[in-house]
Amino acid sequence: ILAADFVNLASELRTIESADLIHVDVMDGHFVANLTIGPPVVQAIKKIATRPLDVHLMIADPDRYVDAFADAGAAMISVHIETVTHLHRTIASIKDRGVQAGAVLNPSTPVSALREIARDLDFALVMSVNPGFGGQSFIASQVEKIRRIKAMIGDRSIEIEVDGGINADNVKTVTEAGANVVVAGNAVFSGDDYAAAIGALRDAAG
Ligand code: ZN
Repeated sequence: ILAADFVNLASELRTIESADLIHVDVMDGHFVANLTIGPPVVQAIKKIATRPLDVHLMIADPDRYVDAFADAGAAMISVHIETVTHLHRTIASIKDRGVQAGAVLNPSTPVSALREIARDLDFALVMSVNPGFGGQSFIASQVEKIRRIKAMIGDRSIEIEVDGGINADNVKTVTEAGANVVVAGNAVFSGDDYAAAIGALRDAAG
């Protein structure tokens, strides 16, 4: 929803009900330059959303805020591997709240950073842009990274999410590589018919 019209968030949310999840980008002005929203807005979204909230924390020291976002109604919380010292403990604290836990890799963070934590994750999130702003172009080298994560997790039921610059033209490359959760911002909100855009993404994803 980073690309949505925040003045009309309630009506924006109603028009994307065909999506599976509502992806919420939380930015703090420290880990990334941009500032977006915090727990009160997530709580407001939760009141009217008809889909689970997937809260992506692009913030320094995310441990301090896991409880606040869980209380606000997050169904999924992901933290950047680059921001935490004790990732195993952070992931456990998210799961202790009954929330699905994910670890996020920046484009420059290697797949090997996931190796010892993969078994504890509900999902891994691959950034296909550098985090901080919506509307950036997809970094094609991340497709190979998705493929390598898929090979690493094997048959385990860990979802692979991809976030950044996804549209109907490139979504097939990431789903073929192994991604099964796809975040779209501008690809949905830049046109007039959000439901049609979501449908086009689904069709293109195969
Ligand atoms: Zn995101």
